[in-house]
Amino acid sequence: MDFLAEAQKLLPETVALRQKLHQSPELAFAEVQTSRLAADELSRLGFEVARGVGGTGVTGLLRGKENAPLIMLRFDMDALPIQEESGAEYASRNQGVMHACGHDAHTAIGITAARLLTRYREEFNASFLLVFQPAEETGQGALAMLKDGLFSSQKPDYALGVHVWNSLPSGSFVIKTGDLMAGSGMFEVRITGKGGHAALPHQAVDPIAAGARIVTALQSIMAQNVNPLESAVVGVTMFHAGTASNIIPEEAELQGTIRFFSQDMWSLLCERLTRIVVDTAGAAGCAAEIKLTASTPPLVNDVLVASNARSALQKILPEARLLTDYRTMGSEDMAFFLEQIPGVFIFVGSGGAADQNAYPHHHPRFDIDENVLASASALLLQTAYELQIAAGRENPR
Ligand SMILES: [Zn+2]
Ligand SMILES: [Zn+2]
Repeated sequence: MDFLAEAQKLLPETVALRQKLHQSPELAFAEVQTSRLAADELSRLGFEVARGVGGTGVTGLLRGKENAPLIMLRFDMDALPIQEESGAEYASRNQGVMHACGHDAHTAIGITAARLLTRYREEFNASFLLVFQPAEETGQGALAMLKDGLFSSQKPDYALGVHVWNSLPSGSFVIKTGDLMAGSGMFEVRITGKGGHAALPHQAVDPIAAGARIVTALQSIMAQNVNPLESAVVGVTMFHAGTASNIIPEEAELQGTIRFFSQDMWSLLCERLTRIVVDTAGAAGCAAEIKLTASTPPLVNDVLVASNARSALQKILPEARLLTDYRTMGSEDMAFFLEQIPGVFIFVGSGGAADQNAYPHHHPRFDIDENVLASASALLLQTAYELQIAAGRENPR
């Protein structure tokens, strides 16, 4: 059985499906047509389908023999609030909405994987749970599916997922053991001073000056508190204050992002942020409130599953460029699944030729090299195949 050759044969259909989805992108939790398409196709293929899981999520179960391991394959479906400028003939027809991260490709990879799984059903000693997830971009979809009981009747033994990755040329794959993507959180700061006339600053307490000092002071966290051998981000991305050139406003508001690879780092960053915000505002005569919100945990790949994925890649694409030490400060809510289930999240280089300089994810001209779609589906199946053998060896049933 040659998963790659079969996936290559299906490539024209996979590409057509990806382009169809690309034309009709849907935002987080509004993936109505996309999830209907996935559910209808899974039904047609003989999967046991559940619709409306965590909003617009869909699952399809393909039962293997009793006691066989359950392998979950996860695909996200949502698009972004971006006006597409790719100029492609299959460009978005939905004003202001665009598949600028490649989740259209993931859904198409998932449907192709489902087709291959039904074809090779007898070759597997495993059951499969295909998960088409909403709202990855807002970091809420995986949690919504979990809260809706995704794992309550059957908890998968392993979880696999892929992301097309334009930062790497086609033919490259990232299969890393341990942490791959950062955890993320955000902070919101409200600084309260005393408003007044801009010509009489001594009678007011300026929250803008306090906010500016806070922005500068936060740089010291990375310079002085974080171990230089570790990675983290504290970035201010929003600063709102004031209404006119001759008014000192009463309040200023800051927001920003936090990225980290361990709970210890999260705790350290929260502690330093709070201290610096409150003390710096205080020194400027202002009061400050800070709200810290954790969004997604770090994404951590399992040792056994990642090593099986690497063997799988070696078998189907021995010429591929394999990266095992690549990490990114980007975040993914696949991390919520991998917190509960051993698994692997794989980056599939989709940037085309190495010198092509593909547009990055979330760019209005983002597009992918569609030829990599076949290898992504095949790699998921081959990894599942290696994994069920490894699982059988560890756990003879
Ligand atoms: Zn994205
Ligand atoms: Zn994405």
